[in-house]
Amino acid sequence: MFFFMAKEIKCPHCGKWTTTAEPHCDFCGELLKPDRSEEEERLRKFKPLDIPLIEINADDHWALKAVKMVARTGQAIFLFIASVLVYIASGAAH
Ligand SMILES: [Zn+2]
Repeated sequence: MFFFMAKEIKCPHCGKWTTTAEPHCDFCGELLKPDRSEEEERLRKFKPLDIPLIEINADDHWALKAVKMVARTGQAIFLFIASVLVYIASGAAH
């Protein structure tokens, strides 16, 4: 099926060459990972959310560590909510 648009890739599970026209390997039946999936393409657009979490240094003052700990927790919650909203928004827009 759809051989005209098929591209051969090496199965990461069994190492045999199979076509990307099918989502699963023709030989072992494992799910194939295409070079660039639609989901990855969607996530690629939201780079601004890719903010690294605040780092806590071992030699920070205990009070500073406490502040950073609270800030990092808040940041993690914010990023989680933001990513959920983006997921819902992008899902609705599609
Ligand atoms: Zn395989």
